[in-house]
Amino acid sequence: DESKPDVIWTVHVEVRLSTKSRRRVDVIQDLVRVFIAENYDPISLPSVLEGWEANPTLASSVEQIAISESACPSRALYLKDVSLEIHAYQPNETDAVEEYANGTAGRDGEENVLAASVCELPCRAWEGLWDGLIYADNIKLKLLDYIHATLVLSDANVDFNLVTWNRVVLLHGPPGTGKTSLCRALAQKLSIRLSHRYSQSRLLEINSHSLFSRWFSESGKLVQRLFNSIMEMVEDEDCFVVVLIDEVESLTAARAGAMAGTEPSDGLRVVNALLTQLDKLRYQKNVLVMSTSNLAKAIDSAFVDRADIIQYVDLPPREAIYEILRSSLCEFVKKGILQETKVPALHLALYYEDSVKHRRGASSDAMLSHPEQDLALTLLALAGKCRAQQLSGRALRRLPVLALARYIGIGVSTSSTSATSGLNNSRFQTDIR
Ligand code: ADP
Repeated sequence: DESKPDVIWTVHVEVRLSTKSRRRVDVIQDLVRVFIAENYDPISLPSVLEGWEANPTLASSVEQIAISESACPSRALYLKDVSLEIHAYQPNETDAVEEYANGTAGRDGEENVLAASVCELPCRAWEGLWDGLIYADNIKLKLLDYIHATLVLSDANVDFNLVTWNRVVLLHGPPGTGKTSLCRALAQKLSIRLSHRYSQSRLLEINSHSLFSRWFSESGKLVQRLFNSIMEMVEDEDCFVVVLIDEVESLTAARAGAMAGTEPSDGLRVVNALLTQLDKLRYQKNVLVMSTSNLAKAIDSAFVDRADIIQYVDLPPREAIYEILRSSLCEFVKKGILQETKVPALHLALYYEDSVKHRRGASSDAMLSHPEQDLALTLLALAGKCRAQQLSGRALRRLPVLALARYIGIGVSTSSTSATSGLNNSRFQTDIR
């Protein structure tokens, strides 16, 4: 339709550089752009590109080129409808660089409690974390876009008196639904997306449980120390800082304890110190605070008031469970633990399910089945059972290990075990129940 204005979709391309790469980033970006134009039109979303090794410069500097998510609902796009944003990044090899312990060793011979740790982003350990987290309703993308939007606003120097936000995100929901992992994955994503703006990114993780559960007088000093160093980091305008406050409901416990008179003033002082420090951070462009809680009702209302985004993260629905189990199975196949088998993607599985239902209704003809379809239907049925049991993402990621352990126990050679027979095994299903 000639009269329709053309929509240009932004598509993010993530180029992971090898540790030894010393090439200029803009050189790599240009080469990647040319490579995509010559070999991938239309591009499919999301996908990992192949064939770039033929270019010696790319071969010597690049580890992976991935077309990541885009707001476009379509799975394939012509380059003429696309604006490519190419992010080249070099993951850090080390995990935590600095740790903050809870002052002096505890009384009664208790160990030193680790209250916070800092790590440089993007880091090697969290590569793949984002893709491994599977949710319904595009939660990941929505969060990423929302956070991105607030960063654009602050970049544009929008008047704080007219539009206000606090740079605080709160994820809450049942335990084991990937909230902490999602915060880390988002931080990693942002560090990649923002690498053209910030030469450095850091994640500071505060474990509020260990921060607030004991000696409040020491906690007060620790909060002060923590935020002093956050402020120091944030002063460097080239550094993007994500602060992750895990189990934020322990803040409330501290305040409640204060109210009950057990730790009269200290507990309250610590909570107030934290809130005051958070308020100071909102004026800093290069900082984002993410927090998680298993008990939304128990979170301090003063904290909830400060959150711009309050996202409920639920137990995975059947479709997400299918994808979680499928990705685990695919990993088993990839690493040679299960025989080479194609595990159908979710949309195919749903299509098989639908057509089987349809055929059942229409006629009693013998159904044509094939192994891939059987596997998809078995896995879907399994996903349904897991859903009925309200399994969390954490429990689901463990399930394949338990299933395999059963196999090893009964002496079936795993290398000759096909994914299909594995799933049809009644012991496997017993485990799930
Ligand atoms: P929470 O903070 O909600 O208790 P975690 O972030 O500690 O959960 O999650 C623990 C692990 O469970 C994750 O590392 C991940 O392997 C798995 N997991 C949880 N939810 C999901 C999900 N929706 N998709 C894939 N894996 C998940």
